[in-house]
Amino acid sequence: MRDARFTPRVFSGIKPSGGLTLGNYLGAIKRFVQTQDAATHETIYCVADLHAITVWQDPKELHAATREVAAAFLASGIDPERSVLFNQSQVSQHAELAWIFNCVTRLGWMNRMTQFKEKAGKNAEAQSLGLYAYPSLMAADILLYHATHVPVGEDQKQHVELTRDIAAKFNHDYKVDLFPLPEPVIEGPAMRVMNLRDGTRKMSKSGESDMERINLTDDADTILRKFQKARTDPAPLPETVEGLQGRPEARNLVEIYAALAGIAPAEVLARHPGAGWGTFKPALAELAVETLSPVSREMARLMADPAEIDRLLARGAERARAIAAPVLSRTYEVVGLLRG
Ligand code: ATP
Ligand code: MG
Repeated sequence: MRDARFTPRVFSGIKPSGGLTLGNYLGAIKRFVQTQDAATHETIYCVADLHAITVWQDPKELHAATREVAAAFLASGIDPERSVLFNQSQVSQHAELAWIFNCVTRLGWMNRMTQFKEKAGKNAEAQSLGLYAYPSLMAADILLYHATHVPVGEDQKQHVELTRDIAAKFNHDYKVDLFPLPEPVIEGPAMRVMNLRDGTRKMSKSGESDMERINLTDDADTILRKFQKARTDPAPLPETVEGLQGRPEARNLVEIYAALAGIAPAEVLARHPGAGWGTFKPALAELAVETLSPVSREMARLMADPAEIDRLLARGAERARAIAAPVLSRTYEVVGLLRG
């Protein structure tokens, strides 16, 4: 249910934690552009550099990765005039509100976050406190703008739900109606693009092997090779979507095709009746190249002028601060922090 007390506003972000993948494109960027173009909501998009450093990032590579995420947004159709586009660390209010939320969030809530468990693996003791507290910063990212809608991939649903819990507890504890309860927006096929080598794990930019993901910057030959080597079972495509049950790799490739073509998975199966992988994989690769190559070409063009990207991000940060500063001031006031 939409929180009707607040004007609809969209916020989302992507971490500069490595090269962007097809999962980021289908689950996030493509939908950010559609939301902007629908023009029904104000749209705010952020390169989440403070989130990226929850795991080690080489400082020099972080600059390049930050610009690359910004370039991917721009190349895919984010208009820096219509949307607010910036990198998180230039708006200090994110970190400040996150601290307040650290004091609202309960440890028991954090302990239920599956992303931390997945990322920490067996070695939770050696992870940064930041990785553990990540969802509290994400709640601050969203609530600092009073965002009501958060387009994300399926993997981030739990964090948006936690954001609602944090907003509700803050409002309740301080007896205010300061923060909206934002909704995750997760619509369409390929909201959880899976790893090409293991259909039970999601595709991630920080995944171990390059063969498990399609990068936005991969060339046509690489994309074809990766799809051809993608793990599948030996059976051909089924007649109906029900036939994809228990076949995670087959389902993944069909859903990727559907999302790229803008059609339903059932339509993909109807267009390729009983196709074997020898014909379906090259068709999928061709479609992926057709979609991604204009984006990667434009990204390369933009990356050749880093000063222009920096200028756009600084300008976006200024606009973001204009929204964020009054919300943080009001929060400090409600919490009882003395301001001169
Ligand atoms: P990392 O491995 O560093 O966590 P990531 O690929 O998961 O990187 P994020 O920056 O964590 O990317 O997420 C950015 C956005 O992309 C989020 O909205 C997330 O839900 C979405 N996303 C990430 N991976 C996928 C995927 N495999 N399928 C669909 N959406 C995805
Ligand atoms: Mg992630």
